[in-house]
Amino acid sequence: MINIQKNQNEPHLLSQHRAIPDATYDDGPREMKREILESLIAEQYSLCCYCQQRITIDSASVEHKFSQKNHPEMALDYENMAAVCSCTERQKKKRQYCDDFKQDKDFTFDLAHIEKLVQYEPKTGVIKSDNPELNRQLNEVLNLNQDYLRGERTAVYNAMKRFVENNAQKANFKGIINREIKKYESASDGKKKEFCGVMLYFLRKRYNRM
Ligand SMILES: [Zn+2]
Repeated sequence: MINIQKNQNEPHLLSQHRAIPDATYDDGPREMKREILESLIAEQYSLCCYCQQRITIDSASVEHKFSQKNHPEMALDYENMAAVCSCTERQKKKRQYCDDFKQDKDFTFDLAHIEKLVQYEPKTGVIKSDNPELNRQLNEVLNLNQDYLRGERTAVYNAMKRFVENNAQKANFKGIINREIKKYESASDGKKKEFCGVMLYFLRKRYNRM
């Protein structure tokens, strides 16, 4: 997971719709939902808010971190919204993750400050947290440790390890690692790299040991 900075201004059509008495998200106009999704995808640099895989306007949906069912009062709160993948919809429950798995459950942590709360295990690709409640939600609400995602994270770790090994003998090794960190922190063409949070976690750890 990586930190998400929300846009200062929420989508105009959302403000308009919320002014209607008893308005709900579901009865909002299609253009409003599209405007929200575009805004969310842009502020997330085209990555799913939970698993960090690529999302597009056609493959993502609007996620309510506190679900609409449990918290209808937050259904039109832009701060409660994020763009999420929905690529496991047709799969068996144990293979699903992110919104497909979460459904009406709540994810209660602030995505603006999530990065420093999560760690990754190199060999297993497990995402975890020292915070027991976050750790529970990563597994029981989002299912982020299902096989496919763990495999992808392990591959990212191995790529990082190869990169370090290939450059370890160079005189400016520290500078090279720092450049690589900057590369993964920044976006190109409005997009960040998939699983960049995993790469950054291991690169920063390596950098801090130097
Ligand atoms: Zn996802």
